[in-house]
Amino acid sequence: MVIPAAGVGARMQRSQPKPFIQLAEKSILEHTLRQFLPLKKLQSIVVAASPAIINQAQDVLHQCLGSQFAWQCVEGGETRQQSINKALSHIKETDIVLVHDAVRPFIALDKIEACCNTAAEMGAAVVGFPAIDTIKKIDTDGMVVETPKRQKMWQIQTPQVFRTELLKKAYRQAESRGYQATDDASLVEWLGEPVKVVRGNRSNIKITYPQDLERARLLVENGILS
Ligand code: C5P
Repeated sequence: MVIPAAGVGARMQRSQPKPFIQLAEKSILEHTLRQFLPLKKLQSIVVAASPAIINQAQDVLHQCLGSQFAWQCVEGGETRQQSINKALSHIKETDIVLVHDAVRPFIALDKIEACCNTAAEMGAAVVGFPAIDTIKKIDTDGMVVETPKRQKMWQIQTPQVFRTELLKKAYRQAESRGYQATDDASLVEWLGEPVKVVRGNRSNIKITYPQDLERARLLVENGILS
């Protein structure tokens, strides 16, 4: 499993990096990791962290995982894609690889399992849910170019799960041809390979803005995290 945690978190407007913000007496990173520990087939965890936080990330992993799993922290890159590309080179001897953002601590175990089972069967699976708002494609002047039917629009989150060889190939080719994307599945789609969407849980928010942190605290108060 790969956890990208090397973002600078500029949108949160805090000096403290997002993965270490505390929620219910644990860091967001620790909460996120703990959601995956019940997975029976989990073999190893690679966390991509920026040089400034790598020691702190190692402390969290050590405290949370001990010697229960093989784990390591590696230095991330300037973009999410670069961070994951670096982390992927440390993933070995596994049929399936799962990528999950460090800042999504509310993922439900049954959704993780559904995504893993679907990826094992079909090669690639991501969690998402139907778009709430109408989505418009716009140009650089803010003019509407196209309005796809909302019924066909889904918001895609993580986990994103793949046959390991497929994801490694997608990252290798994207790297060599300079293709950039904001999620992992886009690289697999770009290779022409199918990706299945599994309906996720709406509470699986990516803690990005200060308002997301307020929502996260409400979810905690409502018992969404144990
Ligand atoms: O930037 P974005 O919101 O897409 O970040 C999603 C995840 O990717 C976060 O967990 C963040 O820490 C991680 N990331 C990374 N390396 C970067 C940028 C983002 O690991 N250079």
